Amino acid sequence: MTTRVVIVGGGTAGWMTASYLKRALKENVEVTLVESSHIKTVGVGEATFSTLKLFFDFLGLKESDWMPSCNGTYKLAIRYENWSSKGGHFYHPFQRFETIQGFNTGEWWLKLKRNELPFDQACFTIPAMCEAKRSPKFLDDTVFDEGVSAYFDPKAPPPNNVIAHHMVQYPYGYHFDASLLADFLMNYGTKLGARRIVDDVLEVGQRENGFISHVLTKQNGRVEGDLFIDCTGFRGLLINQTLKEPFIAFNDVLPNDSAVALQPPWDVEANGIRPYTTATALSAGWAWTIPLYHRNGNGYVYCSRYLSKEEAEKELRAFIGPAAEGCTANHIKMRVGRNHNSWVKNCVAIGLSSGFVEPLESTGIFFIQHGIEELVNHFPEGADTSDGQRLSYNKVINNCIDGVKQFLILHYRASDRADTPYWKATKTELSIPPDLEERLKIWRARLPGHRNIYPSFHGFEAYSWAVISMGVNYVPENHLALLDLLDPEPAKKAFAALQERSQRLVSTLPSHHEYLKHMRAR
Ligand code: FAD
Repeated sequence: MTTRVVIVGGGTAGWMTASYLKRALKENVEVTLVESSHIKTVGVGEATFSTLKLFFDFLGLKESDWMPSCNGTYKLAIRYENWSSKGGHFYHPFQRFETIQGFNTGEWWLKLKRNELPFDQACFTIPAMCEAKRSPKFLDDTVFDEGVSAYFDPKAPPPNNVIAHHMVQYPYGYHFDASLLADFLMNYGTKLGARRIVDDVLEVGQRENGFISHVLTKQNGRVEGDLFIDCTGFRGLLINQTLKEPFIAFNDVLPNDSAVALQPPWDVEANGIRPYTTATALSAGWAWTIPLYHRNGNGYVYCSRYLSKEEAEKELRAFIGPAAEGCTANHIKMRVGRNHNSWVKNCVAIGLSSGFVEPLESTGIFFIQHGIEELVNHFPEGADTSDGQRLSYNKVINNCIDGVKQFLILHYRASDRADTPYWKATKTELSIPPDLEERLKIWRARLPGHRNIYPSFHGFEAYSWAVISMGVNYVPENHLALLDLLDPEPAKKAFAALQERSQRLVSTLPSHHEYLKHMRAR
């Protein structure tokens, strides 16, 4: 039986959903997407998670197919600037810790290296590659280092082949212009058979049982369907405005509620292209710098209780410098939190209409990918979803967003920066989930590891919690006593090998710019 899916909204969420559903479910779904020509999409420079590669792989798209038309670049890490009282920077790479005699290099660093080398440089090869602006690939397209993990099974049926886990030990993400990606996927999705209607939805019709029956458009009349996907952004036209699903705000723990974005030009010939996102702590929040091929995306995520719109724009312009002159600022109000449930009756919210947290860890598009993969995993026949299926979907989605929420709180709460009223308040005024408070106590004594973070939180692995804690200066006082019983030589050798490998990669990989130029010339 063919399921009629109606998607309202044509931003990144709408077109990612349309493309994926057509690819995964083929003629079993009839997809219609309705998008307004005058209600703007969010469209700021975008940084992503490493799992996005799996999304494109699943669509059968090579990087050279889509990256040039979306101004795409690679992302190996997030570089955090000024997030602790010490100042300076550290990298949160996509690369995981290595394990030596059952203990990861983070634990060994506490014993052997803490007075010698910053932990990120000691434990990972990515920081050296970032500093030297290297590409993750050689010009012949081989990846610099690849270890296929047990999570990825290319033979499993979708979405279980790609369900957002990491495929390689050293994965990478992307930066791109999200509006251009939506255009690209619109062409791709319509070629696969998705129908596009450019029109405004004026009303949403419901059956007696509250299920949605149709959307009424201005010029094209009624569009009927079995399953409705709300991709209308922060408006939540179907899920919140029509079905009245409550929205749970996170501002008691994550107070940043506003952003201002600028798009200054960038001279790639003169400056090269950084293969990382930068998050720089400022007086009442933090600024992103996202390198696209022709320009940078810059923005300031801040809390409006501490800074007016005008003050935020002024601080961002001062941070960017002369390149910001003449650029028009885009001010954005952010709805931070999630729906109580993102699947209600026959409506599934995906994208900003489902949930959003500040983009500090680049999770917006990851939430979209995760929502779509789980939708396919729970796909109903017609409008006939069981309560159990909806419950299962909502549990998975809520766990994921709540896990990311706690991970973001860690960035502020564990940081010892307290030099402005905003940074002081992150320690003193904001509430903290009691379970996280307890875990912070544990992490004073032991590094976050897979046994003492919540494993049901999907998205960030234990190494990420350890990297952020140490980066913001929340470092365990002592190393594990157990390590004193082990021979330190293998760990010493592993640290030396890591340094040697970093140097080799820096001297053999092409620059990020050179690789992208080569890709675009093909
Ligand atoms: P939108 O882009 O808002 O699209 C909504 C769509 O709905 C539009 O097509 C609109 O026309 C349509 N629509 C609305 N009402 C109607 C109607 N009545 N009739 C017809 N159509 C309608 N994510 C990341 O992964 N990395 C980042 O670095 C990142 N940075 C961000 C920075 C900021 C400041 C913000 C706010 C978000 C950021 N995000 C980031 C999140 C990311 O931008 C969104 O997840 C992504 O763009 C998806 O948006 P969307 O498609 O859900 O909504």
